[in-house]
Amino acid sequence: MAEPTMDALISVSNLKKHFGFSRGIGQPKAVLKAVDGVSFALKAGETLGLVGESGCGKSTTAKLLLRLEEATDGKIVFAGEEVQNRKGKALRPFRRQVQAVFQDPYSSLSPRMRVGEIIAEPLISMSTKSRREIAERVRELCGLVGLSSQAPKLYPHEFSGGQRQRIVIARGLALEPRLLILDEPVSALDVSIRAQVLNLLQDLQDRLNLSYVMISHDLDVIVHMCDRVAVMYLGRIVEHGTSEEIGKAPKHPYTQALFSAALPRHPAERHQRIKLEGEIPSPINPPSGCRFHTRCPYAMPICSEVDPDFRVFPDGQAVACHLIEPKDGVTLAPAVLPAVPAA
Ligand code: SF4
Repeated sequence: MAEPTMDALISVSNLKKHFGFSRGIGQPKAVLKAVDGVSFALKAGETLGLVGESGCGKSTTAKLLLRLEEATDGKIVFAGEEVQNRKGKALRPFRRQVQAVFQDPYSSLSPRMRVGEIIAEPLISMSTKSRREIAERVRELCGLVGLSSQAPKLYPHEFSGGQRQRIVIARGLALEPRLLILDEPVSALDVSIRAQVLNLLQDLQDRLNLSYVMISHDLDVIVHMCDRVAVMYLGRIVEHGTSEEIGKAPKHPYTQALFSAALPRHPAERHQRIKLEGEIPSPINPPSGCRFHTRCPYAMPICSEVDPDFRVFPDGQAVACHLIEPKDGVTLAPAVLPAVPAA
C-alpha cells in the first residue's frame, strides 16, 4: 500500500475522521466513522482520483486534506512537514499551497463582486502584494485560464458555466498552490464543455507542475485524468493502483461492480453489469471483517470475520480482498497502518 515516501508532495497515513453524536437521553454516544484509516502518497505533478459511492468518505477525505475538518487521528505530511496539528498562523503557508476547486461554479461565485475582485480575494487576504501587483497578477491569471483581458471588469452572470469554472480555477491558482483538490470539478457543466475544462486542468498541471486530488463520480473522467486511483468503501480504501490498471482490470469485487456500472466507452463495447444487492451499510456500525461482505457476490465465511490485509502486487496495485492469494510476488500490507505516534 502507498505509504508515505520521501519524495511525496503530500502523504497521509491512517487518516481518520469520526463524528460523535448523541442517540438520545441515557443512550451511549454513537460514532460515525466517515474516514477510517486512509493512507496514500502523491508526488508533485501527479493526479490521484478518489472514487466510490456517496457516503464512502471521499469528500470528507478532501476536507481533511484541505484542513477544513480536523482529523480524529492520523498524519498529513506536506512537503516534508507534518501539518495535521497546525493552527492559526502556523497553518497559513499550508493553506496557500493547497487550494480547492469545488463542483458548482454557479453558487461559489458572489454575484455582487466583479470577477477581478473574486480572483484577487485570496491575494488580498493572504499576500503582501500592492494593489498594482494584485491587478497585474489578476490579469496574468485570466490569461492563464483562457479568460479575456476584459473579464476582471465583468460580473459572474455575464459568463457561461465553463467560463465561471475558469474563474474559480483562476482564484484557486492565485496564491501559486502546489496542490489542488478538485471536488467534482466538471459535474455541474454541460457535457459539451467538460472536455475544455479538463483539458485546461491538464494544461495547467503540465505548465505549473501541479498535483491534483480529484473526486468524481464519472469514472471515465477519473481514468482519463488520473495517474492513480484509490477506490473507497465505507471510509476505507479497498483498491489502489494506476488508472490504467484499475480502469482495465479492477481486482476488488467492489471496484469491478463500480466500473461495470459505468457507461461503455464505445457503443460496440459490451460488458456485463455486476449488480450489487442491498444498500451501503451505515458507517455508524460498519460490518465486521471485510466491510463489503454484506454486498459482495463472492463473500466467503472468512470475509465476515477477518478484515482483509492489502494484497500488494509487484507493480504496486493494492487490493484488500481475501480472494487474492498472497503468492507469486504478491505481498501483504496492513489494511490500516498502525497508529501514528504523536509528533
Ligand atoms: Fe468480497 Fe470477501 Fe473480498 Fe470482501 S474480502 S471483497 S467480502 S471476497
